[in-house]
Amino acid sequence: MSILIKDVEIVGVRGKKSVYIEEGKIVEVGNPSVEADRVIRGDFILSPAFYNTHTHAAMTLLRGYGDDMDLQSWLTEKIWPREAKLKPEDVYWGTRLAALEMIRSGVVGFADMYFYVKEVARAVVDQGVRALISEGFIDLFDEEKRENEIKKVEKGLKALEDFPSERVRPSLGPHAVYTVSREGFEYIREKADETGYPIHIHLLETRVELEDFLKEHGVSPVKYLQEVGILRKGTIAAHSVHLTDDEIDVYSKLGVYPSHCPTSNMKLSVKGIMPAQRMVEKGVRVTLGTDGAASNNSLNMLQEMKFAALLAKGLSSPTNLPAEVVFRMATEWGAEALGFRAGKVEEGYDADLLLFKRRHVSFTPGFNSISDIVYSAGPSSLDTVICLGEVLMEEGVIPSEEEVIERTREVSYDLIER
Ligand SMILES: [Zn+2]
Repeated sequence: MSILIKDVEIVGVRGKKSVYIEEGKIVEVGNPSVEADRVIRGDFILSPAFYNTHTHAAMTLLRGYGDDMDLQSWLTEKIWPREAKLKPEDVYWGTRLAALEMIRSGVVGFADMYFYVKEVARAVVDQGVRALISEGFIDLFDEEKRENEIKKVEKGLKALEDFPSERVRPSLGPHAVYTVSREGFEYIREKADETGYPIHIHLLETRVELEDFLKEHGVSPVKYLQEVGILRKGTIAAHSVHLTDDEIDVYSKLGVYPSHCPTSNMKLSVKGIMPAQRMVEKGVRVTLGTDGAASNNSLNMLQEMKFAALLAKGLSSPTNLPAEVVFRMATEWGAEALGFRAGKVEEGYDADLLLFKRRHVSFTPGFNSISDIVYSAGPSSLDTVICLGEVLMEEGVIPSEEEVIERTREVSYDLIER
């Protein structure tokens, strides 16, 4: 299958250009004189697609189920009791709804940490997107529970390896320092060494997490996780709000990807703001995440981009995180964290692309398309979403939308009453 996208404005580039796509890859950018199976033309701004580096996709099932609470009570009173009753089919539909919602704001790839990973992968493939998928590992410092979790991880990894590798990448998901024992982390480290799969963890989300850990262990979680081999090249460290300057250096040296989740951090009031500008200055590739829909409550990457920029500015200076940097966080750096050769409109890159409507209010008058995408665009500014050369949304329509909404609604109500 080949596609020719004709005469569009590419973000950050002057003048009109065309892009030729074949077998899921960008083959030529410029003025290709080729025949294609499909030609797309219109008054569009072409952008690389976005990557959401931290989510629990199927938590769409619990959207709006527990709001306005602190993290610990929210987890223990609302989320965990419901999650204990999850069935594989629930996760499948919840993940499809999440993928659909993400497509609406230009996301084609995400890093997921949840349960029943085979169902997550099935949903990812059926909705046409791609993901780095991990089974959330929580042993709560209990040996028996740990053995069980290890079995689940082993089974999950085996299942994930059967999916096409350009769509599904397996990873390891130790939940956090307050839910996983040292032995649990050691198992994860061994598994990562053996398979080469990246690690995805929550780290330093709330101030309480930091203070409790310091009190009990006398060292910071960053030092501890570095020592136990969890913080390493390619690790995605979701939140990373309460970091010292030295710890930012550790991230930089190791090549850790923090996933900044501004909306979730504000909603759960984590008592701090990620030092994103400082991180970028020190060479850390900060990426963006929505976290789950139960703590956000939407999966809207355009919103995360704007909030990331605003939070950084609110922290100290309006020159912090300019639009171009935030744009790279959502595209190039996000793709890199997920392990995909994508996030740029360049030859040889995966054809994960977006077409924004140039005639939309968000792009009028249209002096700077990157600024318009970061500060002004919303899901309604987006016309077309392409993932690996496959058109997932066109003229704002995703063909499976009605069925997915219907089925997810059914399983959500069933889960709440179960
Ligand atoms: Zn999370």
